[in-house]
Formats: sequence, structure tokens, C-alpha cells
Amino acid sequence: MTTKTVQIAGISVQLTRKAVKNINLRVSREGRVNVSYPWHTSEATAISFVESKSDWIRAALSRTSLLGEKEPQAPTPIASGHTVSVWGHPYNLRIIHGSKRTARIFEHDVIITLPNRYLNDLSTETSQRAIHKTFDEFLAQEMRAVLPELTTAMETKAQKHASQYRVRRMKSRWGSCNTSTSAITLNLELAEHDKEALKYVIAHELTHLYVRGHNRKFYALLATFYPNWKEVRASLKGARPSLR
Ligand SMILES: [Zn+2]
Repeated sequence: MTTKTVQIAGISVQLTRKAVKNINLRVSREGRVNVSYPWHTSEATAISFVESKSDWIRAALSRTSLLGEKEPQAPTPIASGHTVSVWGHPYNLRIIHGSKRTARIFEHDVIITLPNRYLNDLSTETSQRAIHKTFDEFLAQEMRAVLPELTTAMETKAQKHASQYRVRRMKSRWGSCNTSTSAITLNLELAEHDKEALKYVIAHELTHLYVRGHNRKFYALLATFYPNWKEVRASLKGARPSLR
């Protein structure tokens, strides 16, 4: 393994060459940019990969800082080439033809397939809605794949059991807990972030099965199930979805 720090597009990046299959890019909650790349890939290739993701990195860095500017963005139609996040990693969006609406990850791409009626003009409201819907379904599926393991682990720690976990897009919250039915709802957008964010939200909602409000007792209890809650909560502040 070899590691060095380089400046790429004005961003300080820690480049590590080691036994990995692909180039991996990560922005830590502390605002460090780490890139690992395989032995068979040249440093120049790794650097140009990072350059191509510089907008995404800047957006991720501004989220790690509470002082990050929240400049309003004019909505631009989503198209191929847009960068989306899945589990904290950037992927290039590719929209191609398919008989059905589907989404999958292939190497550095999230590939969305859409029937022809959407592809004729991707900028229409109907097509844009189809892209959002397909990506949301993909995120929900990603969430459901990891939930059994993560919820079991957290329920064991918290000694509380939710009656069910629902996954859907939520406008202004990461999760909610219905204390009378013990049902927990999780925002599917959590699949865009580091899995720690999802663990924290599960811990938070399970804590509500003991304490309804956000008082001292709540946070003291949450800290016993998930000690790092403050840091992870801060990392989610001001987070914006990939496709908005
Ligand atoms: Zn809460």
C-alpha cells in the first residue's frame, strides 16, 4: 500500500494505491477526501477520475462543514452524466433504453433503463418524474437489502423491537417512530449516505420507544445505543438529495 496527499482541482486528496478492484472515492465526515485505486490503475487515471468528480466532492465537503454555504440551485433536468450518491459514494448516472424502468449499479455507474416513451425527451416533467421514481425505488431496494442486519444489531443493543420498518421518501425528516404501533419509518434517501447515518437513525427511532420527545433523557439513552450520534447527526445536516 502506498499513500500520498495531492492537490486535485484545488482539493486536498489522500491517494492510496492498494489491493482494491476499482477506484473508490470517499469524503469522510471530518471532510477528508480519500481515494483508493488498484495496482493496475495508473496514478494519472486515478487523478483524472477525481477531477471528473470535483463538483460532487465540493458538494460533499460543504455538507461536512456546518458553515457550508447553502446556495439555492436552479433545478436542471436530470440526464446522463449527473452524479448520484449511493452509500456515500459517487456514481455517474447513465440513462439508457430498456423495456422496463429499472436501476442497477455497474462499476462507476448507476444505470437507469427507461422505455422509449420517456427517452424521446428526457426533460419533460413525465420523464423527469420517471427518473426520480426509478432512482427512489432503487434506493428503497438498497435500504431493504441492509435493513435486516442493521436493525437486528441495533434492536439487540437497544433491547427494543419495532413492529415494522417502512421505507419511503420523506420530505423533512430522516425517520419517524409511531410510539403507539412501534412502527418505524425511514427516509429512503438515507441510502445516499454512509451506512452509519442509517444506523444512527435506526438507533434514534428505537430510542423513541422509550422516550417520546427529544429531552435530556432521550439523548442520554441514545448515547448508550449509539455513542457517536452527535457527529453523525451533524453530517446529515444540510444534506441534499442527489436528484433535486
Ligand atoms: Zn426524534
